[in-house]
Amino acid sequence: MTTKLYYENPKLKKTNAAVVRSDKDEKGYFSVLDQTCFYPEGGGQPADAGVINKVKVVDVQTVDQEIRHYTDQPLPLGAVSAELDWERRWDHMQQHAGQHVLSAIFDDHYGMKTSSFHLGAERVSIDLDIHDITKEQWMDVEKKANEVIQRHLQIQSTWITAEEVSALKLRKPPAVDGPIRLVIIDGVDSNACGGTHPLNTAEIGAIKLISMEKSKGGMRVYFLCGTRAFRYFQQLLETTDELVRQLNAPVQELNKAAMAILQEKAANEKTIKELNAGLLEAEAALLSPDPEKGTIEKVFGNRAIKEVQQLAKLTAANHPGAALLFLATNQEEVRFVCARGADADGDMRIPLKELLAMTDGKGGGNAQFGQGGGVFAQPVENLFEAFRNSLKNLQ
Ligand SMILES: [Zn+2]
Repeated sequence: MTTKLYYENPKLKKTNAAVVRSDKDEKGYFSVLDQTCFYPEGGGQPADAGVINKVKVVDVQTVDQEIRHYTDQPLPLGAVSAELDWERRWDHMQQHAGQHVLSAIFDDHYGMKTSSFHLGAERVSIDLDIHDITKEQWMDVEKKANEVIQRHLQIQSTWITAEEVSALKLRKPPAVDGPIRLVIIDGVDSNACGGTHPLNTAEIGAIKLISMEKSKGGMRVYFLCGTRAFRYFQQLLETTDELVRQLNAPVQELNKAAMAILQEKAANEKTIKELNAGLLEAEAALLSPDPEKGTIEKVFGNRAIKEVQQLAKLTAANHPGAALLFLATNQEEVRFVCARGADADGDMRIPLKELLAMTDGKGGGNAQFGQGGGVFAQPVENLFEAFRNSLKNLQ
């Protein structure tokens, strides 16, 4: 059984040890040591990283009650020196202890119980068994949590028996059988926990609630502690500095400046829409029935079909007695709109059916207006001709 030095001294950064077993499983090479400062993933806390004899430790897991240090190459049996990625571990300890404090305050002051905890590479969250949190509650919990930090309270751990556990009123029943490790923050929290924590609440540094969202029938609260919180603050600073420069406004007026830009954008979009409508009307005014063919025909290239439809409607309104066929083509792909004016004869669904058959296409419409698209490898003139013949047959 490996001696868990991370429990005896959570601040131990390196140690000498002996590899007592070296093997390989489906996850890769692993070593079992006689004693270790590497924390294996568990209780919401990720595994430690670091090196053993300069060989990279990529994961640490408890498998069949032994702690396996997974490395990117095999380690020989015998004496080694093991060293943690201390920045990573300290970060985990700050987030984990911060979670204890937050969960205790949410529970004690507002009866909101923590159902799970997630410590991700970027974000840290707890899930609370309630449907909503007010801004006042949110601000109050954050204030009280930071007061716990400032009170410089000891974080202690102790092992107790299963019988002793049942006599205690724990926030959450322990998830394991046998001796239980109790983590106690003076006057704030007493909880069964197998993770690593700093020795004093002051070492958490700071607790900042970031955001919340509805999740799994409850509320998920995102927060950051210690160095992570300051790193996040730095990112926000860099973002606001950039916005101050781009929008040429002081921080306090960024929101106002952004709103002004959005309003201007909306007004511009409205103007563009009006100008486009005017352009389409002008374009439609230039289109008229071919004196010989009697129809209005036009090929537009790869033009947005919505515009072609709009143009067809305007043109048909200008020429109540005429029928039209507009094509938008892109290589062998062809989309088409056929329409007739209010006084013209015929049902557009009949030529439409013919065009769809010729292009192996799909489409639909009514008696006045039809649209569709497919593939056509022949000259487009053939489509216009078929359209005109179809109209003739209607008369
Ligand atoms: Zn813990």
